Amino acid sequence: MPDLGPFPSALRDAILAWYGSRGRSLPFRGTTDPYAILVSEAMAQQTQVARAGETWIRFMERFPTAAALAAATPADVLRAWQGLGYNRRALNLWRAARRIVEVHGGRVPADLAALQALPGVGPYTARAVAALAFGMPVGAVDTNVRRVLGRIVAGDSAALGATALQKVADAAVPLDRPGAWTHALMDVGATSCRPGRPDCASCPAQAWCRFAAAELAGGNRARPVPGARSVTGPAATAAREAPPAFATTSRWLRGRIVDQLRAAQDGAWIVLDAPIGEHDRAAVAAALEALARDGLVELDGADPTAARRARLPIR
Ligand code: SF4
Repeated sequence: MPDLGPFPSALRDAILAWYGSRGRSLPFRGTTDPYAILVSEAMAQQTQVARAGETWIRFMERFPTAAALAAATPADVLRAWQGLGYNRRALNLWRAARRIVEVHGGRVPADLAALQALPGVGPYTARAVAALAFGMPVGAVDTNVRRVLGRIVAGDSAALGATALQKVADAAVPLDRPGAWTHALMDVGATSCRPGRPDCASCPAQAWCRFAAAELAGGNRARPVPGARSVTGPAATAAREAPPAFATTSRWLRGRIVDQLRAAQDGAWIVLDAPIGEHDRAAVAAALEALARDGLVELDGADPTAARRARLPIR
């Protein structure tokens, strides 16, 4: 069992100093507006931060407040979301804006439970917004932070259970700089402490890190590093097997359908009755039904065997 005692203040200082000089410069890091931070966190999940940053600038120009976003149609929001993928996040953000207006008077709530009650906001996003926007000393744990803290404290990215990890993450937060700390841990995970073989020599946590100590002692060579490639044996064979082509997946098909509807005039019905890529008519029809259930498209007519007319939702 790893020692979950006090987080060393010297380690905390080293990470913050490293962040001050080497942290990433991203467009949304300059804002203190809770709504703008909520938008950036929604965008940065499962999307490259550079792409999220570009889209965030345009999105904030279009919808500068929660009230502006809440007043938009889902179609408007889905068009502004173009290029980010995972379109359900856009719809959830729109629903969150409506709840912020209806329940919280247009202001993002400065309360963890109320944040987590917003559509699409889970424990990570609620804590990230709490720390970044409201200066609350809470640890936001995503896969990056799980990996960094797990390796530092326990020598392995997956060694800590959720409760122990959250305890470590909360204890690590400096009371006076929770926002900078949240960004700093993210940057350590995105640069030095990558999922494959980490670059410990470049990392500000190296002197305190159990993984790095084991690495120096040769102890990590006996076990696989998650995400690292093996070069021989069965693992190498498995690694060479190509994953299914993305274009054959239902996620790809759903994305292409939404793209086609984005390109159409607002409110216009589009007939989607032909194969798309390798997906036949039946697959397209099934994807349309699934998108309609998720609220991402409107369908005209209830007969699933007829040619389907669809559009992005306008209400
Ligand atoms: S020293 Fe290495 S393993 Fe430890 S946090 Fe830094 S990059 Fe990750």
